[in-house]
Amino acid sequence: MPYSYDDQNIFAKILRGEIPNNTVLETEHTLAFNDIQPQAPVHVLVIPKGAYVCHDHFAAEASEVEIIDFIRATAKVCEMTGVSPGDGQSGYRTISNAGEAGVQDVPHYHLHILGGRGLGRMIS
Ligand code: 5GP
Repeated sequence: MPYSYDDQNIFAKILRGEIPNNTVLETEHTLAFNDIQPQAPVHVLVIPKGAYVCHDHFAAEASEVEIIDFIRATAKVCEMTGVSPGDGQSGYRTISNAGEAGVQDVPHYHLHILGGRGLGRMIS
């Protein structure tokens, strides 16, 4: 599926260092930083450094190295922020909005990690 990446989006600017961010974790292929308008005590955005619009674009075109790095960085952030249930903590939710129906505001692939409070049931 063809995707056109807009390199003027806010996360591209963060990756280029044009605007600041509150970095939680940086790896070779992934950056994680605190959301500017947190919806929970823990609200971290995890983004690949590559130019991917949304999840299926990333899944189709990123290398396996980038994908593994992204998944492991996401788990590391959960561990670092104390929400990983593997550590006996309270748990978390990941969300990735995609496209218009998914109400994706920033057209650079990102995963929201939300935790630090009871999140309620989203899908019944
Ligand atoms: P989306 O609706 O695209 O899934 O979520 C975009 C997220 O990016 C929102 O939660 C919003 O608060 C966050 N955001 C937008 N601009 C900035 C920014 O300049 N810095 C940071 N850290 N987060 C931002």
